[in-house]
Amino acid sequence: MILDCAIIGGGPAGLTAGLYTTRGGLENVTMFEKGMPGGQIMNSSEIENYPGVTGEITGMDLMSPWPAQCQKFGLKHEMVNITRITKSNDLFTIHKEDGTITDAHSVIIGTGSSPRRAGFAGEDEFIGRGVSTCATCDGFFYKGKEVAVIGGGDTALEEALYLAKICSKVYLVHRRDTFRSAPNTVARIEKTGNIELILNSVPEEVYGDAMGVTGLKVKNNSGEIRDIVVPGVFTFVGNDVNNQTLIQEDGSFLCDMNEHGQVLVNISMKTSVAGLYATGDMRVESPKQVVSAAGDGAVAALQVISYVDELLN
Ligand code: FAD
Ligand code: NAP
Repeated sequence: MILDCAIIGGGPAGLTAGLYTTRGGLENVTMFEKGMPGGQIMNSSEIENYPGVTGEITGMDLMSPWPAQCQKFGLKHEMVNITRITKSNDLFTIHKEDGTITDAHSVIIGTGSSPRRAGFAGEDEFIGRGVSTCATCDGFFYKGKEVAVIGGGDTALEEALYLAKICSKVYLVHRRDTFRSAPNTVARIEKTGNIELILNSVPEEVYGDAMGVTGLKVKNNSGEIRDIVVPGVFTFVGNDVNNQTLIQEDGSFLCDMNEHGQVLVNISMKTSVAGLYATGDMRVESPKQVVSAAGDGAVAALQVISYVDELLN
């Protein structure tokens, strides 16, 4: 059987694509997710910026009802790791880790991205309990408090500026004395009164207690240790897009990407390949939020319904 649509990834983008394709009338839609559906937000202990959802809610609470809602309209779910997506003529082939394949008329991919770890002591232990990789998600929890930001690229500096509007003070810790970030962003940082630069320094250890982070030790090039007493540490040391399934046998990508490995899409989530749509954190200029990933999934699904209709009729 050829699927009307194969959805790769079962995060907010993939699940919403599943809801809209099936409820929109497509009969043969399968979502391929290598783990539990829900995506990376399942690791969050608190989400308070999903519209309409108030009160204390974990990422798991938020996402738990999504798969059942999709299944009600006929979405099928296969728990398998997808290794490659190829296209020949008008048909996509989904290659699975178990060696089997499935063909599909269209594909919506939403495999997300993964923030890199900086690699200092305590980082893994306190992730989600004071160590964060998302200022939009977690900045508000530190309203009026002091925080540290690690990194010297555009993301670190832009997120430091965002945090400086919410927090009383931001310590920007960077391992060199020049920044990778755009010069005008550096100028804005230097003009912001509540950002203190801690240069030529690397995080040595984040520490805390059962309640979470209470401070960060940083070491400068001379080996001196400085103790920064903060309840929040934000690391922005680069990001890896989960785009491996788009890599073809000859090493090229199935569709056009930018230099950071993000999939290029238009406002309708269309990629450079007809019938292939990219959604959520993996696409260019993604705000990396649950609400925007879900929105992308809906947009792509509505496109797919028209695409498949035109292809088959
Ligand atoms: P993901 O959620 O990353 O889902 C991708 C899915 O694809 C995963 O389930 C993965 O298993 C699957 N997958 C990947 N590769 C393959 C493969 N080869 N084969 C099969 N399956 C595959 N956003 C907010 O809006 N508010 C918040 O407060 C917030 N807090 C966050 C806190 C934390 C700790 C984290 C990590 C993120 C947070 N985010 C928050 C960001 C939010 O989680 C993401 O923006 C959102 O999940 C992106 O959705 P997505 O569907 O694009 O990708
Ligand atoms: P990035 O440019 O790779 O910067 C990562 C930063 O983290 C660098 O300053 C790096 O230091 C530092 N770093 C890396 N590993 C570290 C470690 N283990 N410990 C401490 N510090 C570490 O990543 P990014 O900021 O996420 O940006 C990625 C790309 O997206 C860039 O090309 C960027 O220009 C682009 N971007 C653009 C915009 C925009 O145009 N508005 C916004 C965001 C991102 P070194 O500098 O010493 O290597």
